Amino acid sequence: RKSKSVTVIGLGPMGQAMAAALLEHGYKVTVWNRTSSKADELVTKGAVKAFTIHEALAVNELVILSLTDYDAMYAILEPASEHLSGKVLVNLSSDTPKKSREAAKWLADHGAGHLTGGVQVPPSGIGKPESSTYYSGPKEVFEAHKETLEVLTGTDYRGEDPGLAALYYQIGMDMFWTSMLSYLHASAVAQANGITAEQFLPYASETMSTLPKFIEFYTPRINAGEYPGDVDRLAMGLASVEHVIHTTQDAGIDITLPTAVLEVFRRGMEYGHAGNSFTSLIEIFKNSEI
Ligand code: NDP
Repeated sequence: RKSKSVTVIGLGPMGQAMAAALLEHGYKVTVWNRTSSKADELVTKGAVKAFTIHEALAVNELVILSLTDYDAMYAILEPASEHLSGKVLVNLSSDTPKKSREAAKWLADHGAGHLTGGVQVPPSGIGKPESSTYYSGPKEVFEAHKETLEVLTGTDYRGEDPGLAALYYQIGMDMFWTSMLSYLHASAVAQANGITAEQFLPYASETMSTLPKFIEFYTPRINAGEYPGDVDRLAMGLASVEHVIHTTQDAGIDITLPTAVLEVFRRGMEYGHAGNSFTSLIEIFKNSEI
């Protein structure tokens, strides 16, 4: 049985939470961070502070990276690239699928294994099995380290392509940011009308909670590339977005966000989708020339 020993590189809020969770589970944890003082609190909890990146790599096969992005990984590992052979790097830094694929190749060229991870929870969710992280990369590498990774969060292995975990993460963030901005925008309109954020909360939650039903209804149609206007028509949707913009203007609130939405609806109308469902707008997104 392998000894429970792991290196964590990158001690932002995420890396700190990860190292702490591993320590709590009895792991021997070696840590390294560019700003080395960020390791101090972990050292009081039993972590070993590596003074060089070489030392951090030398002591363990499994190396977890929690950095701002993949450029930070190169900044740290390139000067120590001759020490990468035989290591397994689990990169839990968020970046693009393309960058993840390039990194997997770069590491393979240096004799190291790579798993891409996309953590779906904030630091407070680390150490909780109900939290989830996407992983991708060689299945046998994932299986070999799954037990350790499950100390951090639950795992959701997406496949061999190293880009997949980053891809699932980014499409989730695509939805997250747009949805959360819609919530902030609506809250601004509400507040301008004397409705407090507290008062808006049950209504905002109710609206958000209806979305899965819409997604489930439209999924088979989107899958089939069919957008019949039997339930909703784009022309109706356009009028509705205009009402949102007018309500926003009347409240003296910025219209940038709904105007961007309106622009997509307009392009759909110009493309002849007036009688189709608003879901036909996916064709506008797919063809950036339109
Ligand atoms: P931070 O930005 O706080 O931490 C970044 C870490 O990267 C620090 O250790 C920092 O070192 C290091 N770093 C950045 N650039 C360089 C560089 N050029 N050379 C060396 N080290 C560098 O991020 P978090 O801890 O919050 O998150 C880490 C990753 O997890 C990110 O990719 C983030 O997107 C992802 N994530 C974060 C979530 C969150 O809620 N925080 C949620 C889900 C994912 P130094 O301390 O010296 O600056």
